[in-house]
Amino acid sequence: MGTMINKEQNVEFLNKLANLLTKKVSPSNISNSINKLFKSYFNIERTEFIIWDNNSMLLKDFVQDWKIYDNESSSQGINYIYNNLAMENGKKFYFNEEEFDCNLDEEAQYRILELKSENNNIIFPLVANGDVFGLLNITSEKNAFTKDFFTLLNISSKLISGAIINYLLNEQMEISLNFYRAMKDIAKIIESQYELSYIIPLIGEMIDRFMSSHLIYIFIYKDEKYQLVWPIACKDENVYKMLENVDIKKEVILSENCQIGVFPLVNEENILGAIVAYSNFEKLLQKDIDYLVQLTRQSGLTIHRANVYAEVLKYATLDALTGLNNRRQFEIRLKQEVSNSNRNNVPLCCIMIDVDYFKKVNDTYGHAAGDCVLKAVAEVIRNEIREYDIACRYGGEEFFIILPQTKLQEATSVAQRLRKVFEETKMDISEAGIEGKPYLKITASLGVCEYNTSMTADIFAQTADKALYEAKATGRNRVIVA
Ligand code: GH3
Ligand code: MG
Ligand code: MG
Repeated sequence: MGTMINKEQNVEFLNKLANLLTKKVSPSNISNSINKLFKSYFNIERTEFIIWDNNSMLLKDFVQDWKIYDNESSSQGINYIYNNLAMENGKKFYFNEEEFDCNLDEEAQYRILELKSENNNIIFPLVANGDVFGLLNITSEKNAFTKDFFTLLNISSKLISGAIINYLLNEQMEISLNFYRAMKDIAKIIESQYELSYIIPLIGEMIDRFMSSHLIYIFIYKDEKYQLVWPIACKDENVYKMLENVDIKKEVILSENCQIGVFPLVNEENILGAIVAYSNFEKLLQKDIDYLVQLTRQSGLTIHRANVYAEVLKYATLDALTGLNNRRQFEIRLKQEVSNSNRNNVPLCCIMIDVDYFKKVNDTYGHAAGDCVLKAVAEVIRNEIREYDIACRYGGEEFFIILPQTKLQEATSVAQRLRKVFEETKMDISEAGIEGKPYLKITASLGVCEYNTSMTADIFAQTADKALYEAKATGRNRVIVA
């Protein structure tokens, strides 16, 4: 016997359905609650949602979008049925392999009664703007199909179609937003940074975050070969083989099975490297390829500009972010002060500083906030040292101070003062624009070293570095004297 439902129950069912569909939820939530609702009102075994994916031109499961309905067009295959129903603009559905009008007439009802069996299958179109974009696939062991059921199904399918389309549009919008965010972020890196070793991991992370369903590799073309710079390893031989065929005129080179895409990083006339995407699915979708072409173009621009910057900065003495002496200048000044100390027999000290857990700042608040902290650290250093001390940004979050004519005891107290001020300073990160977070507090570890005549400039700096290392190893936020 089919389940009988009265008019009130019909209304109640539709109300419940409409209600649960207004909630903003994931595909599995939508599907689970629809499933439950159908089960509790009818003898429905299972409902399944199949969606046509325009990107891949394939039918996919709405909930498990990796599940693909293959294109073998056997006469009763899902693809075949989908194509048939699409041609009918959503006016027809299938009941146990036979086509019916969605608005069942008397005659059709009799026909259904004849066709129904222990295992029944209904395939109902999901329609938006008159186009079939998916299927509702219903299985039922017992015969549950009254006239009311088909009327309800007809109305339900419209509600369900609306909710699914809404979800798909939202998802598409989110992807677009994330894409523009990634493009903007990649373009923005260069405002303050120019070291490729720093920029490329950032680019890698940005693309990776956006393209989470593919593995991303970045190679730089240097000394006539491709060198992997992000992430740490790429074991796939095929990737290296494909890199041999990089062509500056092609935006993408795809492997035969379309699982690997190589996107050359170029400036006007040179190959800078390549971004490689390796699909975790069967193949890269056209949509993703389009995104990657644009992301690669943007990355190429950023890398090219970083190279130009680096070239210009060869002649610079100051670090672009902090305004302190840069590393190159540090090395020159250190040698000068060492030879001055030797010549005039005056004391000389240096302090090496490394911000504690700085990576966490970047990871938690983003590298823009990290940059603000680095500027603030530089400001503290500038304020705390004497005019003839030489403050340098050594690299990343590492700083050196050269203190001419300074004995160890004095240098140590400078270091201790610095440590305390770092700890107490509210570092302004308002420029990074993180809501409700105008400042951050950090600590730093410091290594102090006094020069003696047995040292070269290099050994002098390395000794401070060793003391710093010990400060890290013994708990951070402290000063160690070599
Ligand atoms: P530890 O206490 O051991 O020093 O930990 P840490 O996280 O400070 O040290 P680690 O060396 O692991 O991390 C340093 C981080 O600094 C990694 C790198 O991404 C980041 N970094 C390097 N240069 C810059 C820069 O110019 N700006 C920003 N925001 N981050 C940078
Ligand atoms: Mg460090
Ligand atoms: Mg550090």
